[in-house]
Amino acid sequence: MISLSLSNLIKNFLNIQDDNISFPEGEYCQVTQKGDYRIKVFKGFLKSNYYTCPHCNSKNIVKNGARYRKIKYIPIQNYNVELHLTVQRHICKDCRKTFSPSTNIVSDNSNISNNLKYTIALELKENVSLTSIAKRYNLSVTSVQRIMNDCYSDFKVNKEHLPEAICIDEFKSVKNIDGAMSFVFADYHTKNIIDIVEDRRLHSLTEYFSRFSLEARNNAKYVCMDMYTPYISLVNSIFPNAKIVIDKFHIVNLVNRAFNQTRISIMNSIQDDSLKRKLKLFWKSLLKYYPDLCQVNYYCPSFKRKLSSKDKVDYLLEKCPELETNFNVYQDIIQAIKHNNFKRFEETVKKYLASKEKISKKMMIALKTLKKYMKYIENMFESNITNGVIEGLNNKIKSIKRTAFGYSNFSNFKKRVLIQAGIISISS
Ligand SMILES: [Zn+2]
Repeated sequence: MISLSLSNLIKNFLNIQDDNISFPEGEYCQVTQKGDYRIKVFKGFLKSNYYTCPHCNSKNIVKNGARYRKIKYIPIQNYNVELHLTVQRHICKDCRKTFSPSTNIVSDNSNISNNLKYTIALELKENVSLTSIAKRYNLSVTSVQRIMNDCYSDFKVNKEHLPEAICIDEFKSVKNIDGAMSFVFADYHTKNIIDIVEDRRLHSLTEYFSRFSLEARNNAKYVCMDMYTPYISLVNSIFPNAKIVIDKFHIVNLVNRAFNQTRISIMNSIQDDSLKRKLKLFWKSLLKYYPDLCQVNYYCPSFKRKLSSKDKVDYLLEKCPELETNFNVYQDIIQAIKHNNFKRFEETVKKYLASKEKISKKMMIALKTLKKYMKYIENMFESNITNGVIEGLNNKIKSIKRTAFGYSNFSNFKKRVLIQAGIISISS
């Protein structure tokens, strides 16, 4: 009676629901040290209830020693747990084949318990590297990868459907890809990734999207993207009904960068060291939208007095007329975007392109770019669709890449991204 209840206690503790497994009294648990791992080893027995040979149905079977299996379990309290199972083996006297029973706690050809596999599958949803999962459970990275492939079913995109508003973007992918950049696209409304394509180059994307039905492609009304010419060709050839929308963030970023580079070149060209230093120190305030600047006075060591961020910007603009000219270009564009006023945006760009003022080369290039994409920028003002959704996903992808060392293989990487984005879930 005592041994039975002890056995049941261990089974309860380890979550084993197999009537054929028992833990005989005695040395049912030992602690061993293997390298960095402290392991609790539970010793159990798996009996068989064979009456006939599973191969030939003969009743002429006898016990034939045992098979020993080491099964990795979910760790408990900083101990890794292993189940060392002695499995009854039989031999058939007619067909000479040996056989031993299976159990629902582990597959026949695996040394990782189903419980541990499930735990790892859940962990794959978090941003934890395969390496660190492997390390925690004393497994190889390959084993973790195999669990990923076994637990998550293959992902298939519905080629018969595309959403009305699509966001597209790219990210630096794993090393061994020719294109170097991969392509991701998402549904603007549901915020879900639709798919990830290994190579973002035009020929590859054209081929990829031509696999979608024309009906699906016709359904796309807006495609939001950054200013990358091949994408425009792609949309024009693949999505006959779609309007191209340039992402707001990329427009702001373009003028922001141009103005910041202008500040740097002005800074480098002036002799006055104190002014130079101030231009360097207060770059952030210069990039802010002017009406949003803080007007509270704080002591500033550079000025040796109390003043606000707005005062600092005013001071710099007064000292550097060239900076002020470019500052005005930058601020006018930002303002038109903030006020969602396309007419003003277009007029601002036109006005400065024709202006005789001393606008920097970088700013001029930015203005020309805006002019070139004006039609698509108008669509942005009109539709209000942005790539905000996908930028978030992109940050996620970047952080997956940072924690991932094991992804020399694109399909593994893609799978992990889709698992973490919740696009594919554990299959039962
Ligand atoms: Zn047999």
